[in-house]
Amino acid sequence: MQYITLNNGLRMPQLGFGVFQVPDDEAERSVDVALQAGYRSIDTAALYQNEEGVGRAVRASGIDREELFVTTKLWNTDQGYENTLDAFDASLRKLGMDYVDLYLIHWPSPARNLYVDTWQALERIYSEGRAKAIGVSNFTEETLDRVVKETEIVPAVNQIELHPYLTQERMRAADANHGVATEAWSPLGQGKGLLDDPTLATLARKHGRSPAQVVLRWHIQLGNIVIPKSVTPERIRENLNVFGFELDDEDMATINGLNRDERVGPDPETFNK
Ligand code: NAD
Repeated sequence: MQYITLNNGLRMPQLGFGVFQVPDDEAERSVDVALQAGYRSIDTAALYQNEEGVGRAVRASGIDREELFVTTKLWNTDQGYENTLDAFDASLRKLGMDYVDLYLIHWPSPARNLYVDTWQALERIYSEGRAKAIGVSNFTEETLDRVVKETEIVPAVNQIELHPYLTQERMRAADANHGVATEAWSPLGQGKGLLDDPTLATLARKHGRSPAQVVLRWHIQLGNIVIPKSVTPERIRENLNVFGFELDDEDMATINGLNRDERVGPDPETFNK
């Protein structure tokens, strides 16, 4: 496993396991498979309603808590200083843990205009040692700038939609300028469409790997943190097996050239649910 050192010195596995849209029991089974396969980082969220299943799988694994990296996220309707503190307590209770490694604001939800207050609650949680790092998700240049200017702590991570059809060059550069690590959600573009791309099929043949492995390798070489999701044991293992080959500069440029600025999820400028 490779690690990314976050701006507060914490080491985060560069490749982790996502459980979006996975019901609680199935999340428990998938996380169990993932931990046995060698994943050490798990990405959940209050919204996913599977923090309890994730917690059960972590406890059952017998792996030392300090060896694991657990991320969860604050849902939009819980934004605001006091609400955030309550929502964080609820997440810890569901996970059955006394700290998380990374706590994220799930979306800026600009119409609410509460993300700065919310961030100040995350700063408090961090100062109490109950999150080893704090960060944001789906933050734009404008919303990230505001948090950096108006608060004390620079987010450690910005988790954004990022894959070969949405390469996010501007946002990656904006994150880097602030010392914020970029984490890619839907790193495989949710599978459909992207993984059938003929250019990726050609590169997969060239390297004797699957299109998913080529895409994940591209992320790793760009320096992104990635959290692919699968509930299929073979794919869970396949997605971790991306450290034994290398894309050359031409392969990287070819994949960068697939960009279409095409999202599979909502646009953070207008997503205010
Ligand atoms: P993904 O890009 O990881 O794609 C997952 C899908 O790709 C699977 O359901 C499967 O259909 C397919 N797939 C996976 N491995 C494959 C393989 N080896 N071969 C062929 N097909 C394969 O999409 P995702 O689940 O949307 O994103 C990953 C994680 O990112 C989520 O689980 C979640 O943790 C996080 N996420 C965060 C946000 C956010 O707003 N912060 C939003 C969406 C997802």
